[in-house]
Amino acid sequence: MYSSFPRAWTAYQSAAYAAGPPPRRQFLPREFVERLLAGAEARLPLLDAPRLDWAHAERVHDPAYLARWRRGEVTRAEERALGFPWNEAVVERGLLSSGATLAATRDALAHGLGLNLGGGTHHAYRDRAEGFSFLNDVVISARWLLDHGHARRILILDLDVHQGNGTAALLADEPQALTISVHGANNYPFQKEQSGLDVALPDGTADEAYLAALDEVVAPAVHAFRPDFAFYLAGADVLEGDQLGRLALTPAGVRERDGRVFGWAARAGTPLVTVMAGGYNRDPQTLIQTRLGTLDAALAVFA
Ligand SMILES: [Zn+2]
Repeated sequence: MYSSFPRAWTAYQSAAYAAGPPPRRQFLPREFVERLLAGAEARLPLLDAPRLDWAHAERVHDPAYLARWRRGEVTRAEERALGFPWNEAVVERGLLSSGATLAATRDALAHGLGLNLGGGTHHAYRDRAEGFSFLNDVVISARWLLDHGHARRILILDLDVHQGNGTAALLADEPQALTISVHGANNYPFQKEQSGLDVALPDGTADEAYLAALDEVVAPAVHAFRPDFAFYLAGADVLEGDQLGRLALTPAGVRERDGRVFGWAARAGTPLVTVMAGGYNRDPQTLIQTRLGTLDAALAVFA
């Protein structure tokens, strides 16, 4: 049994992702996705993402919104807010990616660590899609944990370069969750929500200043909250050269960031789910190496 763990859930292999080119030019082209998956598979077993039940999504999102999107009754303005046109693959990817995060959540309950090679669609609100995000996978899994009494103090540590605005709004009135977002002050979304803790960094922030903010501002808040479950959005769009980010971390800096987060969780015995969130580097190879570095950092601490 232990030989099959840790393992990673992935929606990348699904027919929905394989069908056609990526919907945005900033997304990793298919050939590089194959390289990423080959690198991941050399490190740990990969499992196909299970499809999320709509009932789980309805605990977080407006059922009327879900029904409309399921049927493709989406306006041009809604497609613009999402960032690409609606098609059935938008819905399918959302269900698979959210199903993978929920499966990783069950892994974390059983083994202490869960990994989703996708997920982290943190711009989705209760009744609207935004920023490539149709379903808020992490909030859906957090709600599932609370509904089933599996956790009472859930940390959502969002280190994607873009503020987790949908997550902050969805959990604003939830005392059993703490949302922390460390992001580029001048990055999308331009109208930000209020998280439990927001750390807005100036353009060009590099490794040293970023890691100092993590140690001096984020770590004390994490430790004071004493989470009994944590989600980590390990966005790679903090890297220098990201097409949609304005920070300037190096791959080594991201590896250090990831190692610190995994170390906090492991030392506190907090079950942790890691989702990959954004990454749109001009150099696909740098992005792939950084993603694999996140897996290596997790395996070094948890395996
Ligand atoms: Zn992002």
